[in-house]
Amino acid sequence: MEIVYLCPHCRGAINAKRNIILSARSSNKQVGLALLHEEIGNYTVALSPTLKVKTGEIVDFFCPVCHAELNTSKGDNLAKFLRVDDTGAESSVIISREYGERCTFTVDDRKKIKTYGESVKKYLDPEWFL
Ligand SMILES: [Zn+2]
Repeated sequence: MEIVYLCPHCRGAINAKRNIILSARSSNKQVGLALLHEEIGNYTVALSPTLKVKTGEIVDFFCPVCHAELNTSKGDNLAKFLRVDDTGAESSVIISREYGERCTFTVDDRKKIKTYGESVKKYLDPEWFL
């Protein structure tokens, strides 16, 4: 099953070898790459050696291709990118930018929302990030 994750700004693919690769900056301005598992709901994360992030810290995410900010403008501490599945269906993926928080939403083209992760309940109204 070939899944492609895209930057919403340049539509460059941001996944390779089962990882979603994001450029990241910690709150104390350390920079590096964050590798997220491409399976939604799998919260395995690998960070570059130059990026040391503590649980609960808020991380800024950028596209590794065009460097546009992936942080959402509405709502706190979320970032967004796109996912295209093997049928060509496109959905938005919204993740928490709080390190260690297990929270992901996907929103498909019919605005159907799926949620993943045990921290998701604190975002009661996900409408505002659409
Ligand atoms: Zn981009």
